[in-house]
Amino acid sequence: MNTPYDSLYLFIGGEWIGTEGRDTAVVVNPATETELGRVPLATASDLDRALNIAQASFDVWRRTVPDQRARILKRAADLILERAPHIAAQMTLEEGKPLGEALDEVTRAAEYFEWFAESARRIDGRVVPANRPGVLQLVKRQPIGPVAAFTPWNFPAITPARKLSAALAAGCSVILKPGEESPSTALALARALDDAGLPKGVLQIVFGVPDQVSSHLIASPIIRKVTFTGSVPIGRLLSARAAEGVKPITLELGGHGPVLVFEDADVEKAAVEGVANRFRGTGQVCISSTRFLIQRGAYQTFVERFVTATQALRIGNGLQPETQVGPLANPRQLAKMEELVADAVAKGATLLAGGKRLSGQGFFFEPTVLADVPMTARVMHEEPFGPIAILMPFDEMADGLQEANRLPYGLSAYAFTTSARTAIDVADGLEAGMIGINQYRIVATELPFGGLKESGHGSEGGVEGIEHYLTHKFISQV
Ligand code: NAD
Repeated sequence: MNTPYDSLYLFIGGEWIGTEGRDTAVVVNPATETELGRVPLATASDLDRALNIAQASFDVWRRTVPDQRARILKRAADLILERAPHIAAQMTLEEGKPLGEALDEVTRAAEYFEWFAESARRIDGRVVPANRPGVLQLVKRQPIGPVAAFTPWNFPAITPARKLSAALAAGCSVILKPGEESPSTALALARALDDAGLPKGVLQIVFGVPDQVSSHLIASPIIRKVTFTGSVPIGRLLSARAAEGVKPITLELGGHGPVLVFEDADVEKAAVEGVANRFRGTGQVCISSTRFLIQRGAYQTFVERFVTATQALRIGNGLQPETQVGPLANPRQLAKMEELVADAVAKGATLLAGGKRLSGQGFFFEPTVLADVPMTARVMHEEPFGPIAILMPFDEMADGLQEANRLPYGLSAYAFTTSARTAIDVADGLEAGMIGINQYRIVATELPFGGLKESGHGSEGGVEGIEHYLTHKFISQV
C-alpha cells in the first residue's frame, strides 16, 4: 500500500521539465484524498517552444524510414509491457481503478503500439491508369503534420496509446495534453518511447489549464490535426476552434450505452457480465452499458440476478487485491452521482441497490441500480459516467430499439439473444459505432473504435485508425 508515486514533468524537446518557476496542479489519490504530487503547468512560452520543436521534429520523423519507425514503436511496446506492473500501480494511485484493471489497460495500450508498428510498414499508395497516353498518375499517402492530442483522466494509458501509436506510425509529430488528474501514466508511455529511441521532440507532453493549452495549440498554424477524447461540450468547443483553422479533428465523446436483453437470451450471463461491465472503472467508461432494456418476460429474472451481483461487489482502494470497484476519480464525479440519484428518486425512480457515497476518506460511491426511472429524470438523458445502472422493460424489438436510439449519443450498444434473426435485425437497427452481441467485451486493437451522432466522428484503432493522420497527394507526370 506504500507504492511511491513518480515525479511529474513536462516533456518538451526530449527534456523532462519539472515544476521550477511554473504553476502546478495537485494530483490527488482518489482513494485516500491525499496529495500524490504536483504536475507542472506549461506556460505560453513552453507551448510555443513545443510547437516549434513539433515542426522541426516532424521534418525528421516523416523522413525516418518505415522499418525504423516500426522498430521504435515495437521496442516501446516491449518496454511498456516490461514496466506494466509499475505503470499500473501509478495509474491506480492517481485514477483509482483496481490494479487488475489498470494492468489490463497497460497491456492493451502496449498492443496498440505493437499493432501500429506494423501499420507504419504498410502505408502504400496507388498507381492510377491515366486516360491520356504517356501520363503516370500516382496517389501518395503522407503524414498530415504535427498533431495536437487531448486525452482525459479515465483511461490514462489506452486513450493516449490509441492516438500516439497511429499518429507516430503515420510519421506525425505529436503534442499530447493528457488529463491533469492522472498525469503519470502518459509520462510513462512517453518514457518508454524515449527509451525506445524515438527522436527527441517527436512526442511532447504538456499539462496546463486545459482551455488555455487547447486554444494556444489549435490556433497555431503548425498544428495540422486535432484529436480529442472527452465530453460532448468540450468536443464541440474544440471542433469550432479546429474549424477556424480548417483543421480536421477526431472526436470521441462518450455515450449512454443501451443493452437489449431478449427473452430467448442467456439472461444470467447478460445480467452477471452486465454488472461487471457497468461497474468496471467505477462506471467512468465511455462505452459502458448504462441502460439495460429487458424484454418483459425476462425482466424479473434479470433484475434479481443483476441486483444480487451488484450487491456482492467489493468496493475499496484499488491497490487491495480483493477490490472490484475503486473510487470515482474526482469529487466532481461524486457530486454528480449524488445529484443524479437524488433527482431520479425524487421523480419516482425505485432504488434497487446502492445510491450513496461511502463514509470516510475517498471518493467512493456505491454501485447503484435504478428501476422505474421516469423520462423526466436527468439520468435518462445525461451520461452518468459513474456507477449507476438503469433497468427498464420493453415489449417488442421496435420499442427496445426506439429507446436504445432515443438519445443523441451513439457510441456503444449491446444485445443478448440466441436468435440469429434477432441478432441481425437488432445490430442493423442500433445507432452505435460499436455493437456487442452476446458479449460486453468488444474493443480490440484491430477494430475501429469510434461513435456516431454526438458521440463523435472518426475511428481509432484498426486499419481505419491511421487514416486521419495521413493526407492524399496525387502526382500526375508526363
Ligand atoms: P471535461 O469535459 O471538463 O473534461 C474531460 C477532459 O477534457 C479532461 O481531461 C479535461 O482536461 C479535458 N478538457 C476540458 N476542457 C478542455 C479544453 N477546453 N480544452 C482541452 N481539453 C479540455 O469533463 P470532466 O468533468 O473531466 O468529466 C465530465 C464528463 O465528461 C464526464 O461525466 C463524461 O461525460 C465526459 N468524459 C468523457 C470521457 C470519454 O472517454 N469520452 C472521458 C472523460 C470525461
